[in-house]
Amino acid sequence: MRIGAPAEIFEGEKRVALTPESAKRLQKLGYECLVQSGAGEAASFKDEAYAEAGVTVVETAADLWSQADVIVKVRAPSDEEIAAAPEGKTLISFIWPAQNEEMLAALNAKRMTVLAMDMVPRISRAQKMDALSSMANIGGYRAVVEAANNFGRFFTGQVTAAGKVPPAKILVVGAGVAGLAAIGAAQAMGAVVRAFDVRPEVAEQIESMGAEFLFLDFEDSQDGAGTGGYAAPSSPEFREKQLELFRAQAPEVDIVITTALIPGRPAPKLWTEDMVLAMKNGSVIVDLAAERGGNCDLTVPDDKIVTENGVTIIGYTDLPSRMATQSSNLYGTNIAHMMSDLTPEKDGKPVVNMDDDVIRGSTVCHQGEITFPPPPPKVK
Ligand code: NAD
Repeated sequence: MRIGAPAEIFEGEKRVALTPESAKRLQKLGYECLVQSGAGEAASFKDEAYAEAGVTVVETAADLWSQADVIVKVRAPSDEEIAAAPEGKTLISFIWPAQNEEMLAALNAKRMTVLAMDMVPRISRAQKMDALSSMANIGGYRAVVEAANNFGRFFTGQVTAAGKVPPAKILVVGAGVAGLAAIGAAQAMGAVVRAFDVRPEVAEQIESMGAEFLFLDFEDSQDGAGTGGYAAPSSPEFREKQLELFRAQAPEVDIVITTALIPGRPAPKLWTEDMVLAMKNGSVIVDLAAERGGNCDLTVPDDKIVTENGVTIIGYTDLPSRMATQSSNLYGTNIAHMMSDLTPEKDGKPVVNMDDDVIRGSTVCHQGEITFPPPPPKVK
């Protein structure tokens, strides 16, 4: 069968779901690969590089959708893309089914088999295809790069002939995949890093990276820890204590990177206006939760603002797309791993085995039925 990637049409999206490297993996599984001309251009993958990897380059999106059996994408398809799609295709893409009920119905009406990369269960066996983690990792790293680019000083401390430079102090709020990547990048650049999370079990991870974990003096330190390794909303008392801790940090830190999220809820507001006003002129906040409303009161999603007291607040929601080559490489590999699980015989024929927890969890439409939400996974 044939697997193909159309050009992404979402404004500003630079990633692509198939790279010359991932195409080679797919070919080993018995698939022929196709790409729409120019689809990889913004991620630095030229048509010639695809052709060299044995990928057929087709001219238009219509050619791609009609010739490929399995369509791979980064962004969920638009209404126009779905309307133009031929019936019965298999689609692998970010979908966000809980927020996109109508889109799911439209895809199902086209009798598509749809696997959502954002629905891959977060169990050990599925880590190789966990695109949420791949993208969060890049987002965390890029947040530090954006912070450095908007900060007027070194991150690392230096003793120079012209004088002594203190290291930058960075606070990372939320130490999930993105937060840990930010801690790693900021440490590597020589900053003094401290971090906080409501899940106390991450303290060890933070400290093993050489950063400081900010402990909260609260009788129930498990207060914000939810189930399945995720956070839950914390009690008003816990929240007050947490804000107190941050209020003390605000005048001291140069850079704040916020990544705090609670599944299925808007981002908790943790960096309040008075904290922004207490920060030093020239400080930078990068709010990775901007897309879900932001952790900082003053974040403007998709934008960068500078407050009257000289604090830059960055609310970009496209951090992985700003590193499109890296993101496409990892995303393409995540998809190739998923195709590998879908192709047990390596014969170029996908088998949607609904008894497999990972495939079942990811499949949101199949054989004319909407199969979202899935039952809870049996295996951890
Ligand atoms: P996430 O993006 O949902 O949240 C980011 C972080 O914000 C989390 O660490 C969370 O605890 C924290 N947070 C929430 N509210 C907060 C608050 N008020 N103050 C401070 N921090 C707050 O998290 P994620 O990166 O998706 O990871 C969540 C969990 O899933 C982790 O336990 C991670 O190890 C696990 N995980 C497992 C797999 C796997 O096994 N395949 C893959 C990825 C992540």
